[in-house]
Amino acid sequence: MPEEKFDCIIVGAGPAGSTAGFLLANAGLEVLIIERGTFAGSKNMTGGRLYSHSLEKIISDFASVAPVERKVVKETITMLTNDSAVSIDFQSQQLNQAQKESYTVLRADFDQWLAGKAEDAGAILAPGVRVDDLLFKDGKVTGVIAGEDEMEADVVILADGVNSLLAQKAGLKVELKPNQVAVGVKEVIELPAQVIEDRFGLNKGEGAARIFVGNCTKGKIGGGFLYTNKNSLSLGLVFTLADLAESQLTVPQMLEEFKSHPVIKPLIKDGKLVEYSAHLVPEAGLNMLPKLYSDGVMVVGDAAGLVINAGYTVRGMDLAIASGEAASKAIITAKEQDDYSAASLARYQDLLDRSFVMQDLKQYQKFPEFMENPRIFNEYPQLVVNIFKDMFIVDGSPGKPLRKKVLNHAKQVGLVNLLKDAWKGVKAL
Ligand SMILES: Cc1cc2nc3c(=O)[nH]c(=O)nc-3n(C[C@H](O)[C@H](O)[C@H](O)COP(=O)(O)OP(=O)(O)OC[C@H]3O[C@@H](n4cnc5c(N)ncnc54)[C@H](O)[C@@H]3O)c2cc1C
Repeated sequence: MPEEKFDCIIVGAGPAGSTAGFLLANAGLEVLIIERGTFAGSKNMTGGRLYSHSLEKIISDFASVAPVERKVVKETITMLTNDSAVSIDFQSQQLNQAQKESYTVLRADFDQWLAGKAEDAGAILAPGVRVDDLLFKDGKVTGVIAGEDEMEADVVILADGVNSLLAQKAGLKVELKPNQVAVGVKEVIELPAQVIEDRFGLNKGEGAARIFVGNCTKGKIGGGFLYTNKNSLSLGLVFTLADLAESQLTVPQMLEEFKSHPVIKPLIKDGKLVEYSAHLVPEAGLNMLPKLYSDGVMVVGDAAGLVINAGYTVRGMDLAIASGEAASKAIITAKEQDDYSAASLARYQDLLDRSFVMQDLKQYQKFPEFMENPRIFNEYPQLVVNIFKDMFIVDGSPGKPLRKKVLNHAKQVGLVNLLKDAWKGVKAL
């Protein structure tokens, strides 16, 4: 028998769940957040950068009170071959402006802080409890089952992350397919703050974000990332699960090779490995969007596949926060009308459709398909590196006009392929 009834039960204390919990409790609703980890964030992982705009809308001064690591002021994209690299750097004063800034974060600290905000607002947080199933009555979700316990609520928010078995049980989504998710692995490598600032050319407290493409995934779909934290670096790789099956190397082997690449090695020199984690990332964007609500239930954040990987940026946390906000607004209206039916909760979908979440997902809808082109991860990094080798390596052999050298390299990829891919890339972005 159910023990007690809440206005809302939220499964998962990641950014999506805690944001919804904070806003609902602030509005006076009785909220229970259930988290399977021993504390919020204990099971969570991210590459490392939070785009602040969606959380700033909810907690305007969050960056001055939350445990954020560094404000990112420097972006670098690097194309790697086995022994060489070409990088593009981007720095701008606009990276420093409110609503436009981003911060590196470590999830164990950040998620605990956000869940703490929900608790301060009045939500009850139950860590160390795994929700196993949903309660149904007349086809409507009426609560959750955790071990022997049954807990009832007017509405349940599923914020349980990428592999949401509960959303499947609610009939909102089907099992994930290997080409819809990537696997991410990450090491946190400790280094003194001063060393980080010197190595990355940063002022005190500033941060850098680096994205790598090419040799780091051995030409498979995916890429590498490196974010600077206060006293550590977050270094990792992301691969599409479908591609991983064909790989000659295991994920740990690829990460070791990445760490010993001549570009990466000096950046992590003398660092101490303090954390290793692995996690799935939803990658198919709008193409994997589930049904977002049904009678008495809604799905938010990664559980709904709300992630945009545009190659040069990976965004999930800002979408998770915005979806938690939209779900909470819909529930506040449902509470006023005492109506938690699918028709009432459809307001969540309306709010998301009008927000940047759905608009950006639509914008990047074709990008996952574009990324399935292996030339992006093999031939193009090699082509760019070869052109730069011709420009900068002087060995006494007679010079040729640069245009001839470039054309020769381009011919190896195929001029038609180049034009076709450039056009597809422009259309996808
Ligand atoms: C390698 C990698 C790099 C990334 N880089 C970035 C980045 O730089 N920037 C960015 O914005 N995003 C990034 N992302 C994506 C981002 O981490 C996610 O989009 C974000 O964490 C989603 O938040 P969420 O609250 O929806 O889910 P999660 O953060 O996954 O939280 C889900 C919570 O639910 C809990 N839970 C799950 N099942 C149950 C259950 N049955 N019972 C109770 N609790 C349960 C989990 O323990 C967890 O705490 C990255 C992801 C990965 C893996």
